[in-house]
Amino acid sequence: MGYSIAIDGPCGSGKSTVARLIAGRLGFMFVDTGAMYRVVALHCVNVGADGEEAVETALENMRLSITYKNGEQRVSLGGEDVTDAIRAPEISKASSKVAALRKVRDKMVEQQRLIAANENVVMDGRDIGDRVLPDATLKIYLDAELKRRAERRFNELASKGIDVSLNNVYKEIEERDYRDLNRTESPLRVAKDAVVINTERMSPEEVTDVIEAMFKKRI
Ligand code: C5P
Repeated sequence: MGYSIAIDGPCGSGKSTVARLIAGRLGFMFVDTGAMYRVVALHCVNVGADGEEAVETALENMRLSITYKNGEQRVSLGGEDVTDAIRAPEISKASSKVAALRKVRDKMVEQQRLIAANENVVMDGRDIGDRVLPDATLKIYLDAELKRRAERRFNELASKGIDVSLNNVYKEIEERDYRDLNRTESPLRVAKDAVVINTERMSPEEVTDVIEAMFKKRI
């Protein structure tokens, strides 16, 4: 097992942007674990799996693969690249529902640990420091007020041409936060040895500088 940086936090806290930047600087692999739960959700929507049993059955027949193109993570479902399709608002909502199920989490965690066993990684998600990589070299928890996180997500979706209102994005994130924080299986929480960074008044580069300095001091 090489070096690993675990970055957890709620939606819109800046995890993916910062994780991508830090991975680029250190030459580590960036693993966006949220994308994996999103693929499960897309698959369930495609096959009409609703409810725990149906999702578990759908999971058995799902072919999820992760590849890297110019350092960017791409995800495929049954051989089809779905990297962009999984960003749709209805998939965001569905992802936090399937992510509450134990069998789904067990399968994703197993795959995430396999990746980290062979590479130096920067992995972002909700349970990375707490469950997936409890021995991570460095654990970070990013946070920001809900209003700020909703604005960021809204701008991100708008820049991709996805037609949504700020109010709907706010509500969707509030709902997802609630589900992620209150589920029985690996609820979102700050791992006990994680460093908490409030990203509200910081640029992604500033957050990345802080994490890079902490990591270099640690190794
Ligand atoms: O990070 P992202 O917003 O893409 O994640 C989508 C959903 O996947 C989250 O709302 C959360 O429910 C779930 N997730 C999780 N554990 C992770 C990563 C994501 O439960 N490690």
